[in-house]
Amino acid sequence: MELGMLSGLNEMQQLAVTTTEGSIRVIAGAGSGKTRALTNRYAYLVNALGIEPSNLLCVTFTNKASQEMKRRVKKLIGGERDTGYISTYHGFCVRILREDIHHLFYPKNFLILDTEDQKTILREIYEELQLKINDSKFNRILKKIAEMKMDTEYVYQLMNRENPIDPEKTEDQDRKIILMYLKKQKRVYGLDFDDLMNFTFVLFKEYKKVLEKWQDHLHYIQVDEFQDSSSRQFELIRLLSEKHKNLFVVGDPDQTIYEWRGADPKFIVHFEKWYPDCQTIFLNQNYRSTPEILEIGNSLIRNNKLRVDKDMFTESPSGLKVIHYHGKSEQEEAKWILNQIKHLVKEKGSRLSQIAILYRANYLSRFIEQELIHENIEYAIFGGFKFFERKEIKDALALLRLLAFGDDLSFLRIVNTPKRQIGKKRIQLLREWAEQEGLTLYDTLKKYAQHEQFQRTKAQEFVQAIESLKVKKDEVAVSDLLQDVLQATGYEALIREDGDQDRLDNVMELQRSLVQYEASYGEDLSLEYYLQMLTLYTENDREDDKDSVKLMTIHTAKGLEYPYVFLIGMSENILPNERSLRDRKEYALEEERRLAYVAITRAEKELYLTESEGFTGRGQKKYPSRFIFELDEERCRHIGVMDRNLEEEAKEVIRVARRLQTQPETEAAHDEGAKVHHPVFGEGIIESIDEKKQMYMVHFETMEITRPISWSFK
Ligand code: ATP
Ligand code: MG
Repeated sequence: MELGMLSGLNEMQQLAVTTTEGSIRVIAGAGSGKTRALTNRYAYLVNALGIEPSNLLCVTFTNKASQEMKRRVKKLIGGERDTGYISTYHGFCVRILREDIHHLFYPKNFLILDTEDQKTILREIYEELQLKINDSKFNRILKKIAEMKMDTEYVYQLMNRENPIDPEKTEDQDRKIILMYLKKQKRVYGLDFDDLMNFTFVLFKEYKKVLEKWQDHLHYIQVDEFQDSSSRQFELIRLLSEKHKNLFVVGDPDQTIYEWRGADPKFIVHFEKWYPDCQTIFLNQNYRSTPEILEIGNSLIRNNKLRVDKDMFTESPSGLKVIHYHGKSEQEEAKWILNQIKHLVKEKGSRLSQIAILYRANYLSRFIEQELIHENIEYAIFGGFKFFERKEIKDALALLRLLAFGDDLSFLRIVNTPKRQIGKKRIQLLREWAEQEGLTLYDTLKKYAQHEQFQRTKAQEFVQAIESLKVKKDEVAVSDLLQDVLQATGYEALIREDGDQDRLDNVMELQRSLVQYEASYGEDLSLEYYLQMLTLYTENDREDDKDSVKLMTIHTAKGLEYPYVFLIGMSENILPNERSLRDRKEYALEEERRLAYVAITRAEKELYLTESEGFTGRGQKKYPSRFIFELDEERCRHIGVMDRNLEEEAKEVIRVARRLQTQPETEAAHDEGAKVHHPVFGEGIIESIDEKKQMYMVHFETMEITRPISWSFK
């Protein structure tokens, strides 16, 4: 029995699998089989040691990774076993709260709010306060809300029944909005992503018995991509593993790419600080990539100072050199990539799905997308596409949510779509009645549908449609329910009448994905479970079974692998991005280098790095990224003509940027109107000085441009 789980693993991996007790950390480079060891360890615990999957928590970084892990584990332990404890941090918090949140006076079927829902709440508040609405204001407030939620204090405020939150008491407008937000959030029993973690902490802190129950329950805990855990996530894991003390973590400090969001690689690097008795296992054979790709990755990452070098080797046969392509324009870059893709398919028999195109930021996909469409090549975007954020999809899901939860947010979203003559005034009336009677808006409408105020509306029809479906919601498949609710409420007719084929296609796509999901889920899928899963399912995780080229950001590509990888837009100010250069902090640049390293190490057989001339979105002239110049020349082949001048200029820009980065900040050395000489831009005059940013605005005469230049420039 054991052989099944241990075959296909090297000695060190086998050690990682069979060392089940105590705290163990695996540190190893990309493609060394960490995730494979972790998956097999799960199966080993279940099959060889007889551990129940429900006593085994396995934390992955994204929903996509957890789905993939479930699939692999099921192959090893049998499809009928419950693998619900293979989950993301947030997914696991939902699980805890669904069981125990009543201690905090919240119902178990609380709502999970995504950014769209948060904005809906803000929109209401702005209307009530008669403020002008705009998206950037919302983003600013949401940021403030997120800052407040770095701490758990507000959870206590929400729970305080004697002294409830009172927005009237404050004069400060932002503060008032935030308090109103909390109040409304409470009213719909909604929890956003930050809340999920915070509520869990408060629950554990205030209800020791609940914490003990979960500690008792979790005999073994495993965490993948541990280098990207934040201190709060680590704290949660530490709490949960306190009783049985069986904690297994794997990671690669060189792949930390979420420091900007609080990830801290010290937890893996100095793991022994918290777990003095821990065992450490190193894996040093790479199974993923050719020696060329492996070496290119290593030559790049060695430029980071804050790291410990790893000694990786591979037995994979030698492959092609890594190609760096330089184009004269974005169009040329895109065309070259497309030709290469066609070549891979025709000459090397590659399938489209074996090809991935990676980039630093979402907007970079556009130029390549245009070309893919032009050439009629199927492609799919992971992330950025935001299928589930489209209006019609949100509407359809709001209908389902209304059936499941009857909540105000969903109600408001669709009560007047299609038009039912239930506009602002009647909604206001409903709100007042609802407030008086302590009912939800939907239940209020249901109660008063025949009231004279609603006589000339379609309230009655609407309520009837929803009620008739609510009765059968637990009996029919969710996909059928979706179809029924779209028809019964007239939503489908509405988009058909509008003649908007895209929207219709999208709704059909939702239907299709549901049928597919039901088939793969195996048992009866409940409406509530489906909705909860969807809210946690970020746009990154769209199921995609078509044979198509995959496009995604580097962040999304984490943990994945593809035979052929194109890393596009490798320009200075894109990768590394502008902010990391402007920050003048070495660690920001090092995170960019780690990103490039993660991208490179996704490739199995062939790797293409591409960039082109032109200007960035902010109007800066593009130069090849400094990372290109850091690669091992022996393993690299350059294609495309780069002017000598351009190469020299690029290197100069990088030199200047480097110098700026290592110099301490100073006072402005020049006054307004002073003449300066810049090694690349030539003669210029300082037009103005920005004290805050410590920048000069310099007009360069010969080039006829005005550029912000740092003070530290001499
Ligand atoms: P990353 O750091 O990128 O997440 P990883 O260390 O998790 O990488 P895996 O994804 O587990 O690496 O493994 C990389 C590839 O090598 C996979 O295709 C995996 O199936 C294969 N592999 C892992 N271990 C072995 C082994 N002992 N023999 C053969 N192939 C292996
Ligand atoms: Mg992995």
